This record gives sequence, C-alpha cells and structure tokens, in this order.
Amino acid sequence: MWCLVTVISADSISSLPSLALFGGTFNPVHHGHLRMALEVAETIGVESMRLVPAARPPHRAQPLISVEHRLAMLRLAVKGDPMLSVDDRELARAGLSFTIDTVASVRDEVGPDVSICLCMGVDAYSELHRWHRWRELSDYVHIVIITRPGWRLNEAPELIQWREQRQLKKSTDLSSSAAGSCLLLELTSLTISSTHIRQLVASGLSPRYLLPDPVYHYMQEHGLYTSLQENNHDTGN
Ligand code: ATP
Repeated sequence: MWCLVTVISADSISSLPSLALFGGTFNPVHHGHLRMALEVAETIGVESMRLVPAARPPHRAQPLISVEHRLAMLRLAVKGDPMLSVDDRELARAGLSFTIDTVASVRDEVGPDVSICLCMGVDAYSELHRWHRWRELSDYVHIVIITRPGWRLNEAPELIQWREQRQLKKSTDLSSSAAGSCLLLELTSLTISSTHIRQLVASGLSPRYLLPDPVYHYMQEHGLYTSLQENNHDTGN
C-alpha cells in the first residue's frame, strides 16, 4: 500500500496539469490561428489552449476595429471546441496590454503546480527582446516558439543566449515543471493572415473559407473592414 502511494505521487510530480496561452490581435481571427492553436495543443499535450486577444497591443498600432468586435469574433470561432477557449483578461486591465502582466495574472489564477506554455509564432518571437520585462516571462511560463519548415530564426544576440540557456529538446519535458523553459516547435502553418483578409474585404472581395463562417457572417453583419482606413493599420508587432 505504501509502495503504491509513493509511485502515484512520483508520477504526479513528473507530469503537471498543463495549459497553453496563444496571444494575438486576432483582427480578425482566421483558420491559420485556429489550426495552429489546435496543432500546438496536441503536439505539446496540453489540456486546454486559451486564445488571449490583446486589448491595447504595446508594439503595434491600435487596431481600428474595437476590441469588443475582435473578442466577439474570437468567441464565435472557438464555440463548440472543447480544447480552445478565449481568455479576455487583457480587456479588464487599464493601459497597454503587456504580456508579463497577463502571464503573472494567469499564474496567480492557476497556482504554482500547473505547467503554462506561452505560444508564439516566430514573427512575434523575433521581437521578444523589445517586450516589457521580457526576461521575467520565464519566471511564470514556458515559451513555445512555433517555427516553419525551412525557416531560420532571426534572433537578437541577447535572445539567442536567453533561449539557449532554457531550451528543451522534447515537448514532453514541458509538463515536468511549471515554467522556465523554451521549446522550438516546427509546424506547417497555413498561409493566411489577418492583413490579407482585411485587404480582401476593403477591396470588395470575399474572405470566405479563410476564416470560420460565423466570423465571416459577423463581419458582414457589422460591416467590418470595408473601409480602407480600417484596413490601413498594423505596422510592426
Ligand atoms: P496581421 O496580419 O494583422 O499581422 P496575423 O494574421 O499575423 O495578423 P496576429 O493576431 O497578429 O495574426 O497573430 C497572433 C499569433 O498568430 C502570432 O504569434 C502569429 O505568429 C500567429 N499566426 C498568425 N497567422 C498565422 C498562421 N497563418 N499560421 C500560424 N500562426 C499564425
């Protein structure tokens, strides 16, 4: 009996419950985001994947479409998927949406014994060294960097050193600790971008099938992205 108890507790230490966070402006959310979120969640073996819309992104122009519209479209996109959910905590905070505040708040919510993976595309990662208090991110979460086949990482020298000190070889190691590691994950992404969708709509062309139908209908119903002005934002990350 004692022996059985010991085995169970050792196993639970080696594999923590886990969740993943995937941030973005989602202006609008599309099948590239959703496919990536699902593939990452399955590959790293997390129980849930939260999509976190940036309310007021610090490193790019404020989207002209309101965050309430972006959030509503995101909710429609994940509806009915048990793996994906929307985390709207950045809307509740005043000021710029710094990721460090988001991950600290998620850590507060779930406690110290949950593995949290902050997932980001390689485009977002290449700007990480410009993020507010970026070195502290790994105090709260693991960082999962999603690369594409044949893609070369374009990293600032301080990022290379920081990443290499934390780099894991396999995704299963992510659940053996709550935070502190980096993983490079190579996945094939769909060549869809929100920019392209906004451009299509502003040119009077249909973005249908690049994004979920309920999102497409929401955009139509609210007349989103039809003006060039709405389309003409977002430079840099
Ligand atoms: P925009 O065109 O306005 O820059 P976007 O389509 O790149 O938008 P974001 O909301 O800025 O979308 O991206 C959020 C996250 O989703 C980033 O980490 C980005 O790397 C990732 N991402 C964006 N498009 C894709 C895609 N087609 N496949 C996989 N990941 C994607």
